[in-house]
Amino acid sequence: MAKSKSKPKSAVDHVSFLDSVNRNFDKAAVHSGLPAGLLAQIKACNSVYQIRFPVKIGSEYQVIEAYRVQHSHHRLPTKGGIRYSSKVNQDEVMALASLMTYKCAIVDVPFGGAKGGVRISPRDYTTAQLQKITRRYTAELIRKNFIGPGIDVPAPDYGTGSREMAWILDTYMTFKGGDIDAAGCVTGKPVNQSGIRGRTEATGRGVYYALVEATSYKDDMKALGLETGMAGKRIAVQGLGNVGSYAAQICQEEGDSKIICVAEYEGSIYNNDGIDIKSLLKYRKKNGSIIGFPGTKKMKSRKDVLEIECDILIPAALESQIHVGNAKNVKAKIIAEAANGPVTAGAEEILLKKGIMIIPDMYINAGGVTVSYFEWLKNLSHMRFGRMEKRFDHNTYLNFVNLVEKQTGKRIGNKEKDFLTRGAEEVDLVRSGLEDTMVTAYQNIREIYKKKKDVKDLRTAAFLSALNKISSDYLALGIFP
Ligand code: NAD
Repeated sequence: MAKSKSKPKSAVDHVSFLDSVNRNFDKAAVHSGLPAGLLAQIKACNSVYQIRFPVKIGSEYQVIEAYRVQHSHHRLPTKGGIRYSSKVNQDEVMALASLMTYKCAIVDVPFGGAKGGVRISPRDYTTAQLQKITRRYTAELIRKNFIGPGIDVPAPDYGTGSREMAWILDTYMTFKGGDIDAAGCVTGKPVNQSGIRGRTEATGRGVYYALVEATSYKDDMKALGLETGMAGKRIAVQGLGNVGSYAAQICQEEGDSKIICVAEYEGSIYNNDGIDIKSLLKYRKKNGSIIGFPGTKKMKSRKDVLEIECDILIPAALESQIHVGNAKNVKAKIIAEAANGPVTAGAEEILLKKGIMIIPDMYINAGGVTVSYFEWLKNLSHMRFGRMEKRFDHNTYLNFVNLVEKQTGKRIGNKEKDFLTRGAEEVDLVRSGLEDTMVTAYQNIREIYKKKKDVKDLRTAAFLSALNKISSDYLALGIFP
């Protein structure tokens, strides 16, 4: 237990994940012009809750180690996912909670950052045992007032999904019967359990929208030796879980990009002509592995994905994957940090010198928390988005189309008419809100990057975007004049 409390170092960089996040924060803070006291307050984790609880697994009791960290109370509720992994430790959860604060500020989601972690490998437990652990963890959070629609709102992360969120909601409602806003205590829930359409794929879809925007600037792409646009871009993906699978699939289907390499736990595969992600996911479900997928070659190690020649590398597994030991071998032109912290601070210096563009985690994977925010709003309003205006919009468009027909004397085909007169469904509004959020936030970060001559990378610019917004909350209160 003591071992997990100490700061685990990245195998090669000799700095922990939290140190790496704070090093990046300090690098940006120099350019912020903010007082040292205010910067120290923004950087500090406000509350750290360490939990140990017993759960009967088979005939034995296991003591489960878990955490919930609320990094910043400058806006409430706090918000952030819950991770299930055998590598969870306090340092990691603190790093992830810090990133959540900056992430929410960057995409204008009015929450402070938080994160939870349970130190278990989900593969080692049955569904019933996972349910038992999740419900007990939730009960511990309720006991200490670390969960609630206005307090702290968890969501899925590595190793968890909508199933776990449904268990959390059910446990919360058992304890808090009569709380009319109870559904807002957690997001990423199944749609029929007060969830929202479009949340499952939100992080991956957000990665796609961010890439569409980033690759749309002619001068930025020219500097990398690339054409504008996502069509034909050669992409490598590490991790085919929630974030990686949707990011890959949407880049392929909507962006017409080519996924040439994929890595999962069991190894990595390659096909220069492209790998069909939908079929690969079906294949893995049936065979339990991506290895052997028709038309692909198996690579030596699962880590080879990080060093393959490609236009865009999407690390979507865990932190510290690209470190000072392998950064010099990275051949991608753009790294889209779909995972949190996949590039260590030391590795970033090497990659930037090589001219690689790094689109930082706290911006590019913010699609999840953005749509979680929409879900929370839906829960508090107790109504599905689009319910009031869908039919009104449809009738208005129909009147307009009918008038055009009357004036021109020409008939518009039924298919075109349906397309032109459709009122927006919930999923349309969610996607529209997500796309607008990702585009606007990128433009804001890029503007800072272009305007401030001494800012040399997008991560520093993203931090400055966050610092501007968080500091204005404190300054408006008259704290740290
Ligand atoms: P997930 O558990 O759904 O998927 C992760 C996948 O990565 C798993 O399939 C796992 O087998 C694979 N993996 C683990 N180690 C690997 C390795 N060394 N090589 C190749 N594959 C490996 O998790 P997720 O929700 O997709 O999260 C992935 C990352 O994205 C995490 O860093 C998480 O914090 C971040 N993230 C997730 C969300 C979200 O909404 N789920 C939002 C923002 C950020």
